[in-house]
Amino acid sequence: MLTAVEVVEEIKRGNSSCEELIHRIFERIERSELNCYITLNKEAAIEDARDVDKRHEEEKYRQKKLLGVPIAIKDSISTRGIQTTCASKILMGYIPPYNATVIEALKNEGAIILGKTNMDEFCMGSSTETSYFGPTKNPHDLTRVPGGSSGGSAAAIAAGESVLALGSDTGGSIRCPASFCGITGLKPTYGFVSRYGLIAYANSLEQIGPMASTVMDTALLLEVLAAKDERDSTQIKLPNNAPTNYRCSWLDVPRTEPAAIKGMRIGVPREFIEGSSPEVERSVWDAIHTFEDFGATYTELRMRNLNYALAAYYLIAMSEASSNLARFDGLRYGLRTGKDEDWHTTFSRIRSEGFGEEVKRRIILGTYALSAGYYGKYYLKALKVRTLIKHEFEEALKSHDILAMPTMPFVAFKLGERIKDPLSLYLADVNTVSVNLAGVPSISLPCGSSHGLPIGLQLVATHFEEDALLRAAYWYEQNAH
Ligand code: GLN
Repeated sequence: MLTAVEVVEEIKRGNSSCEELIHRIFERIERSELNCYITLNKEAAIEDARDVDKRHEEEKYRQKKLLGVPIAIKDSISTRGIQTTCASKILMGYIPPYNATVIEALKNEGAIILGKTNMDEFCMGSSTETSYFGPTKNPHDLTRVPGGSSGGSAAAIAAGESVLALGSDTGGSIRCPASFCGITGLKPTYGFVSRYGLIAYANSLEQIGPMASTVMDTALLLEVLAAKDERDSTQIKLPNNAPTNYRCSWLDVPRTEPAAIKGMRIGVPREFIEGSSPEVERSVWDAIHTFEDFGATYTELRMRNLNYALAAYYLIAMSEASSNLARFDGLRYGLRTGKDEDWHTTFSRIRSEGFGEEVKRRIILGTYALSAGYYGKYYLKALKVRTLIKHEFEEALKSHDILAMPTMPFVAFKLGERIKDPLSLYLADVNTVSVNLAGVPSISLPCGSSHGLPIGLQLVATHFEEDALLRAAYWYEQNAH
């Protein structure tokens, strides 16, 4: 499968037909056993591809950064005219009347939307097993999970069922499936990418981000996603001198040369490594030593508040979810079943039928954590821990350019292995959630494998230093192995 950079080049040169490429990918999707997609956008995609083939020589088209590049969209992101369900029964048949800002940006740059990908219901999970539409399978081993919640997006890239994909990451949902499927995924700094049109799970934590098979493609997609948006008041207004071209700002220097990372200071927080499986630990240390061999330095450090990250994350995420999901009541949004009775009965029936187990569990726990009498003990306390964790990251990133650690403590687990025990699933997020609490950017990229199952290296930088992440990741991708 070509990379996005190659697709754009081939199409602009007139070497490849976009329509043929789209047909090839749909053939693969239709034969696939993986269940990557909930809804396909086949006719519109073919039409868009024909348009690209006809007009690729026009000046306006030649400037498009993603001309003719097929992309899969996580089903938590609103797409005008295309069913958007968040993998929930309650949103089945919902067709948004508007596009998320990121979708507009993709279309402006010539990308071709293949369809909407499978995910954990309302982004709640780490395995894509809580989807109403059944689990997605890991392309490296069909008996295993692809990770979650953006599992459909990651599996689609790994299996050649798309070139690029969008995911959303509240506590690891881009990086976890990237790690389990052996691809690259980046969670941007909070406030970097517009959330307008993203169906909210926990809005103080989540960001839409790029997923791709190479670091270069990840950078290219990030550059498009970072479009400014007046409709998202949480999007940061970056200063004018901020880098706007993530691909080119670091491409002009030969970044594969050791000079690209010479003197780079890497921090390795012990808390992230302890508890990982031996093969994950080994691969991550090998990666750190590769950086060291070429002139980077590393130091081990302690970030003690990280021990409370999981508890704080789940309290905050569930509290926000309990409020965000109140709108799915069958009146404003969602499924309407049976005959209308009094308000309470109708509301309860619709929500009981429409939401899955995990979503209900979180609404109940979140409502509890926010209720009078418990608010101070749980929610407020979690916010205080969040502040401590944010400070700890800021402190660590003053004396280090990046932090390095495993994305996931283990490789992809078996389908059905953890889903019966929610706590064991929550524990899988131990290395990813603190990054969302702190709001810093982070990338996951492949750094080895164990018995054919990919292992992910997670790199973290300080706020708005996506450039540093991409540079380190690109260098590693080009030099490792
Ligand atoms: N697994 C985490 C959760 O269930 C993170 C999910 C996400 O990032 N959307 O909340």
